[in-house]
Amino acid sequence: MCYNPAMGEYEAIIGMEVHAQLLTRSKMFCGCSAEAFGAEPNTNVCPVCLALPGALPVANRRAVEQTITVGLALNCEINETAVFSRKNYFYPDLPKGYQISMYDFPLCQHGWVDVEGPDGEAKRIRIRRVHLEEDTAKSFHMVEQTLVDFNRAGLPLIEIVTEPDIRSPEEARQYLVGLRTVLRYLGVSSADMEKGAMRCEANVSLRPAGSVEMGTKVEVKNLNSFRAVKQALTYELERQTQALGRKERVRQVTMGWDEVRGRTVEQRAKEESEDYRYFPEPDLPRLHVVPTWVEELRAELPEMPGVLQERLVSEYGLSPIDASVLVDDRNIADYFVKTADAAVERAIPPQIVANWVTGDLFRLLKAREGQVSDLKVTPAGLAELIALVERKKITARSGKAVLEEMAATGRPPGEIVEERGLSKISDEEVLDQIIDELIAAHPDEVATYQAGKETVLQWFMGQVMRATRGKADPQVVLSLLQEKLDP
Ligand code: ADP
Ligand code: MG
Ligand code: ZN
Repeated sequence: MCYNPAMGEYEAIIGMEVHAQLLTRSKMFCGCSAEAFGAEPNTNVCPVCLALPGALPVANRRAVEQTITVGLALNCEINETAVFSRKNYFYPDLPKGYQISMYDFPLCQHGWVDVEGPDGEAKRIRIRRVHLEEDTAKSFHMVEQTLVDFNRAGLPLIEIVTEPDIRSPEEARQYLVGLRTVLRYLGVSSADMEKGAMRCEANVSLRPAGSVEMGTKVEVKNLNSFRAVKQALTYELERQTQALGRKERVRQVTMGWDEVRGRTVEQRAKEESEDYRYFPEPDLPRLHVVPTWVEELRAELPEMPGVLQERLVSEYGLSPIDASVLVDDRNIADYFVKTADAAVERAIPPQIVANWVTGDLFRLLKAREGQVSDLKVTPAGLAELIALVERKKITARSGKAVLEEMAATGRPPGEIVEERGLSKISDEEVLDQIIDELIAAHPDEVATYQAGKETVLQWFMGQVMRATRGKADPQVVLSLLQEKLDP
């Protein structure tokens, strides 16, 4: 399968490296708060994360557990021995002059995840490794100076590296979206790309279609959104295709994605690539991961999005599309399941609930830019509202208004319906009487209608709705009017 059918002769080879910040209470090797946002710069710091001489690191057990959890969710082998190593380089945001990472003995390796391939079937992407390391401080480049905030220094980071199994920019995007969902389901990272809690780098090369040898790869950095990933990879593949077409050699370089200009820009040549002089961290013991610990963590794994999606189809009878939309966000999926369970008790099928959640509820969340967890509409309340509409106790239109008020006040739907007098008048006897009175009072309109001016029927409809303050069932009114007026 070729990257560009028009050119036809090359295959795209892509591997991804993703860093994600873990959601621990304290930093990776010290007791400083890991709450990176909102704190005054350089307040979550101590001798360890500022690299003062003589300060000693202690590994965060929770971070190790979260890394193992990620490894398990990505079908990795968990190594019984993992070793922290020093990765040496100089940079102002790296006070120790080295980063504590993992090198030849990572915590997890040889995993895989499936994405949807070009033909709609599952496409497997192998995970090379998942390891644990510490974040650097954050630099702020101003016009005449650079500021550095050490609150981020020493936050726990996981790095997830794939084999070069990805074959198109779209597959890369899908892999990342799927990975974000997994990290969020596990509750180990916010995986928010805009906030830098999930960062990715892509390695890209081309090779002649059918060839088994790999071409020279280019590393693309500064990809801050899924859109940027897709655009940058598309651009870079095109650039390499053209270079190869001109019989030029692709040079091994690191590129940055320039969002504004929509192009990749060379940052440094990789030929003289840095030697990090890795060696085992002498201040930390090697990690001995006992198998019973791994099994305990495996037993605590939540239901993963793929499994839940299948369950929504098989157990709840949802369409595959609705199921996939609902599982995108674990909180939404939980909310749906609770609402559907409450609705079933009222004999409302889950698909009706799915329609409400993906329709009116999503609209509400979007308008309020809110999370489902902040919503005042409880699953039980929504199920009750859906039942009121489904049983034709109130109109669909009133239903939407009640939902708005539930979201604003958190009050139960029954109370709102009662107070606003929204119970629909479908009692034909009452309507019968109202319509008879109207007909008697407007003989001219009746004549006009019967002479063939059909729009008069709409006018009568309007009169009935006004007389009933909008509570009449339009279907019932229409058939009653036709019954009485049509000759
Ligand atoms: P480096 O030592 O430069 O970091 P690695 O071999 O460790 O390179 O691989 C880093 C990432 O690049 C991995 O995700 C891997 O799958 C990917 N990769 C390796 N070779 C290629 C290639 N020829 N084309 C595209 N991606 C590649
Ligand atoms: Mg690398
Ligand atoms: Zn600290």
